Amino acid sequence: MHKFGRMLVLVPKGQAPEVSVLHNQISSRLQSTQAASQEKPKKEKNMSKKAVHSKSFVQNVFRGIIEPEQVFPYPNVLDADQRETLEMLVPMGERVFGEVNDPLLNDKLGEVPEETTQQLRELGAFGMQVPEELGGVGLTNTQYGRMTEIVGMNDLGLGIFIGAHQSIGFKGILLVGTPEQKEQYLPELASGEKFAAFALTEPGAGSDAGSVKTNAKLSSDGKHWILNGAKIWISNGGIAEVFTVFAKTPVLDEATGTTTEKVTAFIVERSFGGVTNGPPENKMGIKCSNTAEVYFDNTPIPVENVLGVRVGDGDLCTELLALVLAPQHDHVHGEDVVFLVRLEEESGPVHITEHLADPFDVRVLLFFLRQRFDSETS
Ligand SMILES: Cc1cc2nc3c(=O)[nH]c(=O)nc-3n(C[C@H](O)[C@H](O)[C@H](O)COP(=O)(O)OP(=O)(O)OC[C@H]3O[C@@H](n4cnc5c(N)ncnc54)[C@H](O)[C@@H]3O)c2cc1C
Repeated sequence: MHKFGRMLVLVPKGQAPEVSVLHNQISSRLQSTQAASQEKPKKEKNMSKKAVHSKSFVQNVFRGIIEPEQVFPYPNVLDADQRETLEMLVPMGERVFGEVNDPLLNDKLGEVPEETTQQLRELGAFGMQVPEELGGVGLTNTQYGRMTEIVGMNDLGLGIFIGAHQSIGFKGILLVGTPEQKEQYLPELASGEKFAAFALTEPGAGSDAGSVKTNAKLSSDGKHWILNGAKIWISNGGIAEVFTVFAKTPVLDEATGTTTEKVTAFIVERSFGGVTNGPPENKMGIKCSNTAEVYFDNTPIPVENVLGVRVGDGDLCTELLALVLAPQHDHVHGEDVVFLVRLEEESGPVHITEHLADPFDVRVLLFFLRQRFDSETS
């Protein structure tokens, strides 16, 4: 131990510093203290400057202001009514999923028991985005997203059951169906009286949706499309009464006089005839969601059941995807600030991958996507 003035310095035995070194250190400290006291008026001057508006959370804490925008990245996009609806639905959903639904039992049974399904019907879980006048709850994408978080946290298999029904099964009817199609199908689907499925995938057509082999030909009297083909891995395939089916149809190009095969989407009821399905696939998880092959054997579809308006518009599913992705693209390249930086500056592959590995970040990104989609489509 060495003592210099009021300073005690502890050094290991045999490593005592030269007195001159310590003297230098002390004197340089004294000099910097003197410089600091000279800077004081300058600092005070700076402090008296008018504060520049900043959204920085930390900077504002030093000004005695809480500026939450960049720390809580969820924008307040719901109006008072929508917020109130959600505040009422969230605890109801948490009760049904936390107390009534039993994910382990569902997994063991390979299906969702009728008692749970009935509670879900009463909650309105089968028609969350269907307008109220057609028997649904009329939620926005933002509200719907919040509710699906509750489902996903509790039981992903059940999430696929109700998600395949409304997020894809009848989503086409909801988004691009004619007023008559909406009137005819949405009330019984929204109530959960009937279930819906989305039938696109085939053994040779997955990501490449345009290469489906299922086909539909117009009957000689022009009143029906006759559907033939097989679909695989269809969620709710064994329990659905209503299917959105994608099939190739001949389409005449009046300008050139040539006929080409284009994908058309149809609303197909099991009751039309010729609709059968295979046994539920034996999956490693999400077992209570029914996944099955679905076959169409000369199934007659009334011509008014072409989804939307035109034959050959079946690529609307990819157009809808583009519609969903466009706001996300704008979001990334726009002025929105998430994770305290503009996303465009963060969009290098490594940063994006890091964000996608973080559940909180994914939640924030999805939240932004949903609210953007709401604002673009309202
Ligand atoms: C549990 C479950 C439920 C399902 N439910 C439904 C349903 O309800 N309705 C329905 O229609 N389908 C359903 N599917 C099918 C699902 O949508 C398809 O699996 C999906 O479309 C991918 O098709 P695929 O499996 O043929 O893979 P492929 O298209 O063969 O792709 C295999 C891999 O190659 C990659 N890939 C493909 N093309 C390219 C490319 N051009 N460039 C780079 N990479 C590429 C893909 O990203 C993927 O990683 C379900 C599947 C499962 C497992």
